[in-house]
Amino acid sequence: MTEVTECPQCGKKGLVKRNADLFQCLCCEFKRDFNEHKASSTSNDGLILIMLAIAGLLILLLQSCAVSSPPGIVPLPPEVSDVP
Ligand SMILES: [Zn+2]
Repeated sequence: MTEVTECPQCGKKGLVKRNADLFQCLCCEFKRDFNEHKASSTSNDGLILIMLAIAGLLILLLQSCAVSSPPGIVPLPPEVSDVP
């Protein structure tokens, strides 16, 4: 017994349930894999890692900018040596 449903791509009743997570259309190349949604959670972790790497690079860039900026903006306090 196979479950046949209407295909959202071609509109024909050719969408069959292959697995618990996989639907495939017999009339066209349409495929719906529910396993991909589960797998996308792991790719989200990769995205977070990339974002962390970018954040780290930005921090490094900001630090290098602070080091390379010319000194002399902050005035030194005048030495009070004249004691009456
Ligand atoms: Zn189809």
